Amino acid sequence: MTTTEYNPFTVAQEQFDEAAEMLGLDEATRELLRWPMREFVVSLPVRMDDGSFKVFRGYRVQYNNSRGPTKGGLRWHPDETIDTVRALAAWMTWKTAVVDIPLGGAKGGVTCNPKELSRGEQERLARGYIRQVGAILGVTRDVPAPDVYTTPQIMAWMMDEFETIEKEAHPGVITGKPIPLGGSQGRGDATARGGMYVTREAAKRLEIDLNGGTAAVQGFGNAGQFGATLAEELLGLKVIAASDSRGGVQNPDGMDAKALVEHKLTTGRVEGFPGSKPITNEELLELDCTVLFPAALENAITAQNAPNIKARIICELANGPTTPKADKLLHEQGNFVIPDFLANAGGVTVSYFEQVQNTYNYYWPVEQVHERLDEKMTKAFHDVYDMYVREKVHPRLAAYIVAVSRVVEAVKLRGWV
Ligand code: NAD
Repeated sequence: MTTTEYNPFTVAQEQFDEAAEMLGLDEATRELLRWPMREFVVSLPVRMDDGSFKVFRGYRVQYNNSRGPTKGGLRWHPDETIDTVRALAAWMTWKTAVVDIPLGGAKGGVTCNPKELSRGEQERLARGYIRQVGAILGVTRDVPAPDVYTTPQIMAWMMDEFETIEKEAHPGVITGKPIPLGGSQGRGDATARGGMYVTREAAKRLEIDLNGGTAAVQGFGNAGQFGATLAEELLGLKVIAASDSRGGVQNPDGMDAKALVEHKLTTGRVEGFPGSKPITNEELLELDCTVLFPAALENAITAQNAPNIKARIICELANGPTTPKADKLLHEQGNFVIPDFLANAGGVTVSYFEQVQNTYNYYWPVEQVHERLDEKMTKAFHDVYDMYVREKVHPRLAAYIVAVSRVVEAVKLRGWV
């Protein structure tokens, strides 16, 4: 176990380097694309409910805007560091490129534990963040969205603060908003839904019958909860295990995904779900199942546990769940990985649809959102799978080749390198 294997930005650079080598990129292009274009680190003083002040550290990294204004979520997490944000911003750049939407990549965050903040403290932190970084945001510059532990409500406060400063309406400055404030239909489950569409396509190409197969879900937040219900609804999979940061549950006969979500929402945990037995996160990852959905955080699948992974398909709803060493092992063993920046691109794709609707101030029905999302995800999956077949490389590298080539084309056309 090495530290570099677990530093997400080192992982992101290593993944990029492998693609740059395959593509034979020149030195200047490599240097430009293995680092962010711009980084902002800010101090955020917040008045706490007890009258004291606490200063939080906030970040916004704009990785590359050659294909369009940058786009990427905001994560509020106690372990947030500049390197996590850099890695996530890099992956956003490859993600918008692989689904071929006219945006670049960015990411932001605040080092904090939102579970320890009251609603009022969260609102003051959200507004404080916009007062610090608002000047570099905007629909033609950079557009944030929700990520781990940030919600539509937090997006609403941020949009309101931005509009208060600018003195005019700017619904497109942020996506993942509540629907009455210009949010898109279908944004809530978009990340997981996109993951289901690519899993369906993968199963077709790999000739795996998903109907009646089994699924295990690691992480039970936005991506994991919708992942579980949609795996059942759209793919006919039985959910045999699920976990959150407190522990996991399993039942080899399958669990009712909707009831499990209900249980999590009422008790705050998956543990104690009627009819289930406890399972650790480590055991869950190694379960014999048709599809494994890592939907928590980085570094879940490493060189240590990769040899024990049995899932036929691993659909990475989380960002960065697999380390580069694990990637190679999984490929050799025949576990097919649908890489994160393809598997979870449904979220940014519907965020992009939200921006489009905000800009022309006319809104689509949910069926239209689903149809357009399916079109984008299906095309992206086959672009990557065709590259995987052609180049005989592991699927993540194939996805990198597709995405990096598109970004390289844009920076070259602009005459940057
Ligand atoms: P969330 O905050 O809604 O949920 C995170 C979940 O992970 C929680 O249930 C938490 O308990 C669980 N968790 C944390 N540590 C864990 C651990 N060690 N083991 C098991 N579970 C653990 O966040 P989310 O929005 O669902 O995001 C999850 C992942 O999906 C992240 O990697 C995020 O970057 C990625 N993602 C999310 C979106 C989106 O639209 N929400 C889009 C793209 C990618």
